[in-house]
Amino acid sequence: MIIAMRADASAEEISLVIERITSHGMTALNLPGGDRTVIGVASSIPADLREPLTDALQALPGVDHITHVSRIYKLASREFHASDTVVNVKGVEIGGNRVAVMAGPCAVESREQLAAAAEAVKGAGARILRGGAYKPRTSPYAFQGLGEEGLKLLKEIGAAVGMPTITEVMDQHDVDVVAEHADILQIGARNMQNFPLLVAVGRTRHPIVLKRGPSATIDELMLSAEYVLNQGNQSVILCERGVHPLDRTYLRNTLDLSAVPLMKSISHLPVIVDPSHSTGDWRFVASMSRAAVAAGADGLLIEVHPDPKAALCDGQQSLKPETFAALMESLGAVARAVGRSV
Ligand code: PEP
Ligand code: MN
Repeated sequence: MIIAMRADASAEEISLVIERITSHGMTALNLPGGDRTVIGVASSIPADLREPLTDALQALPGVDHITHVSRIYKLASREFHASDTVVNVKGVEIGGNRVAVMAGPCAVESREQLAAAAEAVKGAGARILRGGAYKPRTSPYAFQGLGEEGLKLLKEIGAAVGMPTITEVMDQHDVDVVAEHADILQIGARNMQNFPLLVAVGRTRHPIVLKRGPSATIDELMLSAEYVLNQGNQSVILCERGVHPLDRTYLRNTLDLSAVPLMKSISHLPVIVDPSHSTGDWRFVASMSRAAVAAGADGLLIEVHPDPKAALCDGQQSLKPETFAALMESLGAVARAVGRSV
């Protein structure tokens, strides 16, 4: 349920509406919009309460109109918020006209490696620096990331090149330390339904990149976004990173590109694409990046390594700096063709 207040509604009238909702044990979110306040009920409303509550709220002073959200997810839906959400991270907008490119190594390996990657991606036009410090590896014997040391390097190098940063948080107990060092918190595909983790990042006010699990439906992804949004964190960015493939002979995952316009139609949240994990092969990263921008993606998350052959993680899908620079050159024309810029 969404309660749109009149543009001239007073603070007392807004409080009265919120009190009426919370008196039934439900959560009310006060979302000051452009010219008016909108109050969202972020709980499911018992069937027998729906009509009497609607009537009672409609009768309160300052209430303009009430809309019911028909989707199972509420705060993530377009019905709830008609205009596109634009997430601003230190001046870089995700969800606006300009496509936001986030790039850097899969994992932070050393100061030298990250600095070389950061300078290369910044020079080529990326605006957000990626680098994993806590890596979700299939094998416990594989490089697990540098942990807090990696976070410190990411913060140091991000500041040195003047780029906001993104890194994955895997454990709810690490949320504070990751939030202290990085600008965007990434929820990896494997953790899309780690609900305590979603609640924990929802309690921060950092932008969250929420990756779609390889076997997750769109509704499952939306409901995971809802876990973050209903903690009061409105800065959620959805990420398509490929779903479980029919055939793994050639590609790591199948990039579900149709999910991009679909998610943008049902949700107001920005949608980005990770062409690296969705293909698993650097040779296809550029074409899938261009396809993602053509399909309406608000951003890209791309793995770039100064020396992919020596990478401790995901070297086979990482672009060399010069290949990334060539990709960035070609993205501009695609973006222009769909009325955007990079
Ligand atoms: C990553 O971005 O480094 C990563 C592990 O991605 P995913 O969660 O999509 O596998
Ligand atoms: Mn990776």
